[in-house]
Amino acid sequence: MGKPFDITPREAPEVSTPYRRIVSRIPHPDTLPTLEKLQRYEPRSMQGQPPIVWDHAEGCQVWDGHGNMWVDLSCGVLVTNAGHAHPKVRRAVEEQLQKNLMHSYCFPNEPRAELVECLVNLAPEGLDKCFLLTTGSETTECALKLARSWGQGLGGERKIGIVAFEQAFHGRTMGSQQMGTLGGGDSWIVNLDPDIHHVPFPDGYRVTDTSFDLFLKTLDEKGVTPDRIAGVITETYQGVGPDFLPVEYAQQLSAWCKEHDVVMIYDEVQAGFGRTGKQWGFEHYGIVPDLFTCGKGITSGLPLGCVIGRSEIMDQYDPGSMTSTHSGNPICCAAALASARAIVEEGMIENAARLEGVLMPALKAIQSRHPELIGCVHGGGLVGGLQFVHPGTKDPHPDLAHRAVEGAFQRGVMMFAPVGVGGGCVKVNPPLCITEDALRDGLGALSEAVDQAVSELQPALAAV
Ligand code: PMP
Repeated sequence: MGKPFDITPREAPEVSTPYRRIVSRIPHPDTLPTLEKLQRYEPRSMQGQPPIVWDHAEGCQVWDGHGNMWVDLSCGVLVTNAGHAHPKVRRAVEEQLQKNLMHSYCFPNEPRAELVECLVNLAPEGLDKCFLLTTGSETTECALKLARSWGQGLGGERKIGIVAFEQAFHGRTMGSQQMGTLGGGDSWIVNLDPDIHHVPFPDGYRVTDTSFDLFLKTLDEKGVTPDRIAGVITETYQGVGPDFLPVEYAQQLSAWCKEHDVVMIYDEVQAGFGRTGKQWGFEHYGIVPDLFTCGKGITSGLPLGCVIGRSEIMDQYDPGSMTSTHSGNPICCAAALASARAIVEEGMIENAARLEGVLMPALKAIQSRHPELIGCVHGGGLVGGLQFVHPGTKDPHPDLAHRAVEGAFQRGVMMFAPVGVGGGCVKVNPPLCITEDALRDGLGALSEAVDQAVSELQPALAAV
């Protein structure tokens, strides 16, 4: 995992379509000083993404300022759901700037009031409070704290256990990171909290037992009884696959949480705001969580996150004791309001649902050409992934995945570095405003990049 990309400019095929243009070596040689400066002054951990210097981005396209243009299948890591620099989001930010209010700490401001009202109205009935934060990690961290306090209130000191899923990712602050296991034993992400318990995620590929019994059996084997569990947290779909829960499993999990007074938390940081073809991803399961967390796509560009939930859980703390300096920053709130409205008003959720019918067949067609090397294709709405494996196994093939991403950005397709188990998953998740034509154009180039990566790294299989 975490393989760096080579920043040496390399010859790339010339590309010219309405959505992609490559006219130079990639990365453009003139961008090298910027790349070198970043390498010199930032920690190595920041070198994980393709070395394309983003000059500007609009809708579903990104430019490097030197004549090259990419169709964006990354959505800036699932952030710019309404599209890059959406005109309504830009206008909202500009208007807020004109008012000369860039910050008000927890002193009230109008955009914050409008936004929490809007988000609660978008949430299912019964989830009637919204707490604004800045990053996704903070929101899952906050949900952890809320669930533990609630559990203690109901069941005393012992009821503080949190059940999370293997291969989950909930962020990189200490509490959020301990709820995930992504990275496995060789990672710096270690769980030091004896009251966080991990159970297998029923992805149907690496974990083939997708019954809820596996959840119960695992807790039983660990000797964890429900009276010691305060909360269960899951990503609505696990980002690594992306893998959705079986509907029946999700429903049984919710029922089990209700039965045992356990707070059910859905991490919608990736799945929220239309990504899966519904406003909230958990709608696919026909359940309503007690708390859910949002980040990424909430503003389509500026840093903001939130926890939304049942008021009795959200209202546990006294005034002044659950706050954050940048909670409800007026510029971020104005952006979020405009973005959330644009996503609904401009039919982007429906677009995501419809384009699943283009994305998933295209990914499956790529898989069908390399069945030995692409073990699994999962997804839904406008998120899908190709899981590269060593021939005939389920062992991740990070080199192949990495080479496919490299080939894609050299062809004018913006993608982020492979994710998931062993870094084997190439994920596709464009802005939700993408047109069918642009999506097909990008997927066609990705398909070529995969073929080329296979012919370079697995020549025997490519010839089959
Ligand atoms: N939860 C999920 C499901 C995520 O995908 C991420 C970010 N990849 C986070 C939490 C953490 O968000 P942030 O990076 O904004 O802290």
